[in-house]
Amino acid sequence: MAFTGPGILVFMTEPLRMSTLFLRTMRNDPADEDVDSAKLLVRAGFIKKEAPGIFTWLPLGLRVLNKIEAIVREEMNAAGSQEVHLPALLPKDPYEATHRWEEYGDDMFKLKDRHGAPYLLAPTHEEMFTLLAKSYFNSYKDLPVVLYQIQTKYRDEARPRAGLIRGREFIMEDSYSFTMDQTGLKQEYQRQRDAFERVYQRVGVKYVIVKSFSGPMGGSASEEFQSPLPIGEDTFALSPAGKAWNVEVLTTPRPQAIDASATPAAAKVNVGSARTIDQMLTYANKSLPRSDGRQWAASDILKNVALTILHPADQDHDNKPWREVIVVGIPGDREIDLKRVAAAFPPCDVEEASEEDLKKHPELVVGYIGPKACGPNARTGEKEHDSHVVRYFLDAHIAQGSQWYTGADEKGMDYVHLVAGRDFQSDGTLEALQVREGDMSPDGSGPLSFQRGVEIGQVFQLGLKYTKALNFTVLDQNGKPSTPWMGSYGIGVSRTLACIAEFHHDEKGLCWPMSVAPAQVHVMTMGKNAQAAQEAEKLVHQLSDAGIEVLFDDRTKVSAGVKFKDAELIGVPLEIVVGRDFVSNGTVEIRQREAGTSQSVAADQALTTVQSLITSMMPRVEDRLKR
Ligand code: ATP
Ligand code: MG
Repeated sequence: MAFTGPGILVFMTEPLRMSTLFLRTMRNDPADEDVDSAKLLVRAGFIKKEAPGIFTWLPLGLRVLNKIEAIVREEMNAAGSQEVHLPALLPKDPYEATHRWEEYGDDMFKLKDRHGAPYLLAPTHEEMFTLLAKSYFNSYKDLPVVLYQIQTKYRDEARPRAGLIRGREFIMEDSYSFTMDQTGLKQEYQRQRDAFERVYQRVGVKYVIVKSFSGPMGGSASEEFQSPLPIGEDTFALSPAGKAWNVEVLTTPRPQAIDASATPAAAKVNVGSARTIDQMLTYANKSLPRSDGRQWAASDILKNVALTILHPADQDHDNKPWREVIVVGIPGDREIDLKRVAAAFPPCDVEEASEEDLKKHPELVVGYIGPKACGPNARTGEKEHDSHVVRYFLDAHIAQGSQWYTGADEKGMDYVHLVAGRDFQSDGTLEALQVREGDMSPDGSGPLSFQRGVEIGQVFQLGLKYTKALNFTVLDQNGKPSTPWMGSYGIGVSRTLACIAEFHHDEKGLCWPMSVAPAQVHVMTMGKNAQAAQEAEKLVHQLSDAGIEVLFDDRTKVSAGVKFKDAELIGVPLEIVVGRDFVSNGTVEIRQREAGTSQSVAADQALTTVQSLITSMMPRVEDRLKR
């Protein structure tokens, strides 16, 4: 490998000749691809689909992939990470020790060897890196250490889609840091986060850093790098101040308490069969005129929703998984977001309470569930009784002192003027609502807006979860065993390649950024003129000798139209056309694929023009990240 110009990694200086290249482009979009990057990568002969979410890398695609990987390696090495390469085929035991053999769910490819021993194809490698560090390191003097690999990962995704974006076999760069304490972890986390930013800027992909939930990885702080693309499956929320959150971790600023001293006493009213929110409003507006003169709104109703927490097996429950019914109070104009509720009960999932669940709690009168049949108001202090009382939570939007129209735990009966904090209490506050655009931002800077994104990387401060579970200790300065703090950091390399293509294409084809293009220059000969063909050969050699990668369309039996179409589809950033103009006045045409501009230069000026264009077209790293 050699270097030319700032930051260009050159893999070959022999030109790639289209006459012999293992490449067939397609005129039409493949029928089974749903996003532009996949359609174009297949049509341009970069990848070939073998099965849903499983692709072959063809010569041009592999060149782009190798370039992205080389940039990742440079940045990882500069951040003090050391490269290793672990197997993808792994034994079950380490994943059982951390419970991920089960918790990872159906996404994990599991298989057996010929002796029946269980194995997996790794979806991620926290366990193996912890064991690796543990095998060799045992002293505080060995830490910090950061290891990484670039490797094929396997996930049996429920819906492989969008070509390389959600594959079942895909390429990830994953690094893992081990430090003596949390301060060390935070330092390594910041170095990795900076390295990720530099990678994304150098490969020419847009990203937003989004505060996120650590999911099956466990641990505390985590951020995602989201590529803002409408085809993304993720939604993140942006504040006017430019901060971003995954909706799963969005917090609501606590509302100010309301002075309830003038609110009338709570009253029980017979509402008959009014049960939907609309029926309740019609009834209330007719029969219960408000003292403030305005109409009742859905947001005046406290909707109490019965949910079930799915707890894993524990000793108090005969080592069996168990179901706990809870009730959550939310404003009547809003809906529950089960994932956000579940985030408050890790590692449990949460679902709507089933009929069976509710049968065990006759005190919850379906349709009339109120805050008094559960939570602190239903407890008597008597142990046996209280152990059956359902926990009651309030959504974070509900202010102390706010008054509500809500169920009274008897068929046909409701309460009005029931005041939070005065007439009923809760066991805690939850982020329970589906977030809406326009909700207040956690930083208080104004209403949230939503954007769709594709996650191209994620960084986690894992803490002690894996090191503890796998008994990794080192001796500290006082000779005492101490559990190292761990972080893990992943870049979706193949997914990033697809996102680059999403940002850099037009209706005619791909337009690669200079840093990752399969070649920097695409030279085309036009017509049958022998002199032009000779000049093209000469130019190609000049460029190659100067360390520039050239894709050379030297095909003789192909029309100019086809050559142009292929060049547009493949998307090499600079195109040089050697044809009629060369024969008549000694000039060649240099085109910039993405900008769509072109200039005519004397053939003997082509090399220097190309060299300065390459430098000026390289994606730049922001000043704040410069080393
Ligand atoms: P997603 O939410 O999109 O399924 P994830 O959060 O499960 O991704 P991580 O475990 O954080 O993924 O993996 C690190 C990176 O690997 C992701 O940020 C993403 O870029 C990439 N990645 C994850 N799953 C896939 C996949 N099925 N195909 C391609 N890349 C993937
Ligand atoms: Mg992730």
